[in-house]
Amino acid sequence: MRLAGYDIHTLHAGDFMLDGGAMFGVVPKPLWEKECSADSRNRIQMTCRCLLLQTPNRKILVDAGIGHKEDAKFADIFAVDFSRGNLISSLASLGVKPTQITDVIYTHLHFDHAGGTTELRDGKAEPLFPNARHYVQSAQYQHAKTRNPRDRASYMDANFEPVREAGLLEFLDGDVEIFPGVHVLTTSGHSPSLQMVLITDRHRSVFFPCDLIPMSAHIPLPYVMGYDLLPLTSLVDKERWLNKAADGNWTIVFEHDRFTEACTVRRYEGGRIRKDRAGSLDDFDSETDA
Ligand SMILES: [Zn+2]
Repeated sequence: MRLAGYDIHTLHAGDFMLDGGAMFGVVPKPLWEKECSADSRNRIQMTCRCLLLQTPNRKILVDAGIGHKEDAKFADIFAVDFSRGNLISSLASLGVKPTQITDVIYTHLHFDHAGGTTELRDGKAEPLFPNARHYVQSAQYQHAKTRNPRDRASYMDANFEPVREAGLLEFLDGDVEIFPGVHVLTTSGHSPSLQMVLITDRHRSVFFPCDLIPMSAHIPLPYVMGYDLLPLTSLVDKERWLNKAADGNWTIVFEHDRFTEACTVRRYEGGRIRKDRAGSLDDFDSETDA
């Protein structure tokens, strides 16, 4: 898709699975199972979908998936699967080498978002994008380093400390138009200061809500992940941003939905918001403003 001066592509960065109960919080399995069937270990199929925004001068990557540093036990627990490709092969299919990436926006530092920004060389994690500035919110980085017992399994230093040690990590504080037409918008229900990404020319918009709305099944308001540290904050923020998305006919791209890449949403009587039109990002290229 072309928008606001950017060529926007989605990038496949591997598939994985997470516990279905954890993905849907208080929603009972008979309800979420209608949308996402679970395997014998109660895991549902998920993916890592990243964004690449290109101009003649910049190649901006949003998130990087799990990466390839983890061991067989990790790969078994999370059913990590690169049979459909990985971040490097996805970039290569667009003719892009890792050294050409100029900027990386970390929505947050959980392993399924940050892992792919480093790779093992001689057993040591090194930045995969050595020429890129990597942007994270300060509050997210500080939280990652506190190692809270509830979510410390989601943070591994090898996924982001080599980037900081190489002088490639930039800290942001709050919402900002980070590049012309590219906004990062913070939300703290899932984890402190996630940065969602909105690309807009004020007529059309692409919204990447990352883990505020990880899959299309999370559009109904009570469908909030059990992983979220502040689920009521997620709920309030989700309602706010879904209403903006419905009013602006935004194209929402889902980071973790293996089967629905993008959709628009529509508000029904009583305020309920539901998925409207679904498709690949390019299916929305010709949409005019609503
Ligand atoms: Zn997360």
